[in-house]
Amino acid sequence: MKNPLLSLMTLSLLLFNIACKDDPKTPQSCDAVEFEYDGDLGPEHWGDLCLDSECNGNSQSPVNIAGATDDVALTDIPQTYTATATHIVNKGHTIQFNFDAGSSIVVNGEKYDLLQFHTHTHSEHEVNGAHAPMEMHFVHKNAGTGKLAVIGVLVEEGAENATLEHFVSHLPETKDATYEAAETFSATDFMPSDKSYFTYSGSLTTPPCSEIVTWIVMEHPIEASLDQIEHFEHLEHENARPVQPLDGRIIKHHKG
Ligand SMILES: [Zn+2]
Repeated sequence: MKNPLLSLMTLSLLLFNIACKDDPKTPQSCDAVEFEYDGDLGPEHWGDLCLDSECNGNSQSPVNIAGATDDVALTDIPQTYTATATHIVNKGHTIQFNFDAGSSIVVNGEKYDLLQFHTHTHSEHEVNGAHAPMEMHFVHKNAGTGKLAVIGVLVEEGAENATLEHFVSHLPETKDATYEAAETFSATDFMPSDKSYFTYSGSLTTPPCSEIVTWIVMEHPIEASLDQIEHFEHLEHENARPVQPLDGRIIKHHKG
């Protein structure tokens, strides 16, 4: 090119294009988007992290559970939980236990298959403004609609949990590391004996925060020892999204 000004403009345009392509702040697909629990990628920025993020929506989770409405039309959640072999994955921000096929629940007449449970330290849901040191999320999916039903079980510090004790010394320590074992357990092992629960419509608690979740938070916690809870906390650190506004949603209560 003869004109030095034109050359400079071309070069600038080229550099501008490269810079934009590599700019991590350019909205991208929500698949495998990076997020954190503080700083520039923290919860207050999740709504802008990726193209399909619903994190700024008005049916978000978790929430503070207070002033729930008793609903006599609700029933115990029918649970068909079968034994699964042990498949633990370190997902970076959480420790996840994947289930073999065969476990399911029925919510509002529809079947949801149990896929996995993972843990949060401390709990994401609060009850009357207080959180528990840990919460387990049992994620179930409706094969037809793709919608989710997640059972939240709060874990209070107390007696050693016999089932967790089989796993705490085997939790994979680095992201994407796994632990596989033939040893079996069932989701029933982690369910409180009292079937009372709270339920409301909400979202995933991590980006893209999709508003596709029927939440069922068990009213009564289970127990684990401080040492067991600390095994999870040590690996996943603080991984609780702050509670979100109800924005007019009703939390219903079922007395089991
Ligand atoms: Zn969760």
